[in-house]
Order: sequence, then C-alpha cells, then structure tokens
Amino acid sequence: MTQFLLVTDLDNTLVGDDRALAILNQRLTQCRQVNGVKLVYSTGRSLTSYQQLSSEVTLLEPDVLITAVGTEIYYPGNILDQSWIEQSSAGWNRDAIVAITQQFPQLVPQPKSEQRTLKVSFLLNAEDAHILPELEAKIKNQGVDAQLIYSSNQDLDILSSRANKGNALAYIRQVLNFEPDRTIACGDSGNDIALFEQKTLGVIMGNAQPELVQWHHKNQSDDRHLAKAHCAAGILEGLQHFGFL
Ligand SMILES: [Mg+2]
Repeated sequence: MTQFLLVTDLDNTLVGDDRALAILNQRLTQCRQVNGVKLVYSTGRSLTSYQQLSSEVTLLEPDVLITAVGTEIYYPGNILDQSWIEQSSAGWNRDAIVAITQQFPQLVPQPKSEQRTLKVSFLLNAEDAHILPELEAKIKNQGVDAQLIYSSNQDLDILSSRANKGNALAYIRQVLNFEPDRTIACGDSGNDIALFEQKTLGVIMGNAQPELVQWHHKNQSDDRHLAKAHCAAGILEGLQHFGFL
C-alpha cells in the first residue's frame, strides 16, 4: 500500500452498491491510517444535498468536499474555501445567465438549494437537448464566461468556466501536495469528464453513462482504466489496477 489521493464522484460512482461501499470504506480507512491516503469527494450536489445523502448512506468523512460541480470547496467543519470562490468569479455573471435561460421554457429549474453562487442548474429532457447550442451561443454573445455541462440526459449545469470538477481537482491536488501519478479520479457521467481531463490517473465506472464512455474511447489513455465493476467495486478495481491496493 502506498500514499495516494483519491478524488471520487458520489452518485453512481462511490454510492450505488452498499456492500461494495462497505468493503471500500474499510480498505480506505486502513489506507488513511497507515499511509496518509487522502480522500476527496467531488459531487454535483450542493452541501445541503450532500448532507442528505450522508444521512442515508455510510460515507467516510472526506479530507475535502468539492460540491456543486466544482464550484465550492469545503474543509472539515463545513468551512468554505473563499479564495476558490473569489478566483472562480472572474467573468461570471449570474444574473445574465438567469435572464437568458428564462427564454427557454424547456429548462426546468432544479430546487433552490442547488442554485449556487457560481452555478445555475436545470432539468432538461433528452428530447429537448437540441436547444443547447442555441443557449450556449446566446450566453457567449452576452460575453459571459460560462460553461454548460449536460449529464445523464437530464441535468444541465451552467457554471463559471473557471470552476468545474477538473479545475477544483487541480487546485486541491496542489493544496494537499500530490503529484498527478499519485492522484486517482473516479467518475461515471458527463460532469466527470473535466476530472479526467486533468491528466491524473482515472477510473471510469463499469456503469458509466454513454457520454463519458464515448469521450473515453475518443480520448484513449493508459492512465485511465475503464472498470468492469460498478460503483464502489469499480473504484476498488481501479485502485488495484494502478497498484494502490
Ligand atoms: Mg455520478
């Protein structure tokens, strides 16, 4: 066993198979005690929604919690990293985004708890996803620095282009002082692509969404493992594949 930084998505990556999660939690607890392994969760959920999940599922306390698709970073005790918010705010204009999205009746706002300082989130049916290029063009024409992330054929997140899961990973990797070849990112859907673009090691779950699998095949890398196993068992498979367990 060696020291490594594990950065994992939650829904359908870490969470989804309770038995496999219990086994992984046990292994990670040993690794953290013996080897100083660090654990980071990176989720599309808000802090509120994360807390709801952690009341339903047994999750280890992470060293760092990245929420809202990389736009917020929390340390133990729910301490928000203000400097991350500040450095991610340049070029972002939330009011302009909200005004533009109101022109598209296909966009159904997600609950208020998921609307964040640097993120605006909607539900969008797959059959209405054809509006995305037009929406993106309107945002660009307003000169707003934003990125659109469409995941699982239902979730549309519009966020500051400086804050996504990948940029948050790069930031935290430096804070915790881990090299890319000692960092392993795990995910299952479109909003995890930014994680895998960071050129660390990566594991894609066997149950991944088609948008991520397609991206993986177009962007092949020996540093990324497409697991056969699902959810936490896929993470275990990946950690073994890279020799960390
Ligand atoms: Mg997921």
